[in-house]
Amino acid sequence: MIPFSPPRMDQKIIDEVVDTLKSGWITTGPKVKRFEEKLTTYGGQKTTLCVSSGSAGLELMLRWFGITEGDEVIVPAYTYAATANVVIHCGARVVFVDCKEDFNIDPEKVKAAITKNTKAIIPVDLAGFPCDYDELNALVKDPEIIALFDAQTEEQKKLGRILILSDAAHSVGAEYKGKKTGSLTDITVYSFHAVKNLTTAEGGAICLNLPGPFNNQEVYQYLRIKSLHGQSKDAFSKVQIGGWKYDVVEPGYKFNMTDIAAAMGLVELERYDDDNLVRRKQIFDAYARAFSKFNWAEIPTYETQEKKSSYHVFLLRIKNIDERQRDAIIQKIYEKGVAVNVHFIPLPLMTYYKNNGYKIDDYPVSLCNYSRVISLPVYYDLTDENVRTVIKAVVESVESK
Ligand SMILES: *Cc1c(COP(=O)(O)O)cnc(C)c1O
Repeated sequence: MIPFSPPRMDQKIIDEVVDTLKSGWITTGPKVKRFEEKLTTYGGQKTTLCVSSGSAGLELMLRWFGITEGDEVIVPAYTYAATANVVIHCGARVVFVDCKEDFNIDPEKVKAAITKNTKAIIPVDLAGFPCDYDELNALVKDPEIIALFDAQTEEQKKLGRILILSDAAHSVGAEYKGKKTGSLTDITVYSFHAVKNLTTAEGGAICLNLPGPFNNQEVYQYLRIKSLHGQSKDAFSKVQIGGWKYDVVEPGYKFNMTDIAAAMGLVELERYDDDNLVRRKQIFDAYARAFSKFNWAEIPTYETQEKKSSYHVFLLRIKNIDERQRDAIIQKIYEKGVAVNVHFIPLPLMTYYKNNGYKIDDYPVSLCNYSRVISLPVYYDLTDENVRTVIKAVVESVESK
């Protein structure tokens, strides 16, 4: 069986993790700090805070912005549950909007969904392809939309407009007009979960890129405290001489990253652009080349003049099929020894969201994309022979339907 997305765990990762284990410092410490600095240089954002997961990062930033009951947060209907669940945790209302043909949130539909209660938008760079950031950034700065904004907290007053909190769980290293995700909007959150492009087993990072008058370093210092029970000192400072005494300034969270995770991240980041992304692009190109010969195949957009994907998963759509036919094709592909997937089942189809009044018919593009999509495996260790096996399995399964 060709697996869908095994992590790349080689001797380099093992050595760095063992080095951490032997160093006597396994939780948040020097390696997290170094990983944060490297991520800041990499993405070009103003500063970076590592956390325990992408979900934790998104929730921490919604909490920081004071999102609460009565607020609305705009989220694409076509995403993983984390993007919307964190809004529910804060007591706010999720406002889903439909996606476009490229699977990403539609700025026109975002505009139509904004009300006086809208406090944030969470665009998702689906499959690693960046959203329309110029349109989204311009939208929240539109004077008419600013006039609607009802600031309640200090942070909301300081920003003076809707926050864009980008979910870049898939798109570390993706580019928009020559800039990397991390520096494309106010705040960007990465995920380093085991199936993501760059993994630390579990982990995430918050890229801070807030405009003036925010001081991103100050926000970083505050978030470090907020992500560790509101403790005025982290574990590393507490072990220094005289460092035992600390205060709790608020009932914070437990969202910090460990040095074991950061050790993996440091190795992964070092070889990300020159090795990981290179291989992923080769696989994307091979799939695109092979499937473009068939008129039943719809190749996803992953490179344009302005945008470059991080090649997370290859979302192949089959023309003129329904959901049931797609499921049957997936079954046949599995029987040929290839694991494929579907990214994603739109959230309005999920029991919790359905029971809370969301209807899939309101998101026709999401439903159409979902019904016809098959996610193909893309990862560093997938060999050229594996790629040929995947292509053959897909072609035979579609053509025998
Ligand atoms: C994986 C994922 C997340 C959550 O990341 P975790 O690190 O698993 O919490 C958020 N959004 C999307 C779109 C994801 O795919």
